[in-house]
Amino acid sequence: MNVILFGPPGAGKGTQAKLLASQRGLIQLSTGDMLRAARRSGTPLGERVAAIMDAGDLVSDDIVIALIEEQLHARPDVAGFIFDGFPRTVAQAEALDGLLADNDSRVDAVIELKVDDEALVQRIIHRFTCENCGALYHDVTKPTAEPGVCDACGGTSFKRRADDNEDTVRTRLANYYRETAPVLPHYAQQGKLRSIDGMGDIDVVAADIAQILENADAAQQGAR
Ligand code: AMP
Repeated sequence: MNVILFGPPGAGKGTQAKLLASQRGLIQLSTGDMLRAARRSGTPLGERVAAIMDAGDLVSDDIVIALIEEQLHARPDVAGFIFDGFPRTVAQAEALDGLLADNDSRVDAVIELKVDDEALVQRIIHRFTCENCGALYHDVTKPTAEPGVCDACGGTSFKRRADDNEDTVRTRLANYYRETAPVLPHYAQQGKLRSIDGMGDIDVVAADIAQILENADAAQQGAR
């Protein structure tokens, strides 16, 4: 099963993708994570995209489509993928449909996480992660139990994303509405789009996603 988790920056796509990956044995493909990894390792690609990412703008379609294509080819035998932060333009959505069709596969479900804009800004500008294990925290709503010590692994180094400042977040939101939201009708026309409230607790959102995918499973079995 191939699932797209869709929504603006800070909607919780990454958090939900990780949960879903472990529950269903699917592979999370986050183009944001791939691009950040390229930057960390100082590859020519990483250098090309650094300024674009720091400004909160979109990297070109060619680059991100090539990253996804590489991952799909590298893992032909998996149960399916969770696309997180991809597709972000109509051209990317069309390319993904084509790449999956080449493998006799398809997008099975697109789940939109709907979150209020101001809540997104507050979520993003206060978020930080443990440098050691990646556990996610928030200055106000989810601080570490002991200041400066990760609850999960005891690590004492934390990091914030360079693009998680208020100016860049607002640019990322504007880009979302201009470039990415137009992808929604593409999947609505295919009957694959489901929208849920992304404002609730992580567990509640996860349960809503699980329900949608169970319904999609049942519909697929009924169609066989
Ligand atoms: P994310 O971690 O998904 O918020 O992505 C961080 C940044 O990486 C974005 O603000 C873009 O600059 C870039 N990026 C990630 N995914 C894409 C994509 N599918 N298309 C274009 N740019 C992307």
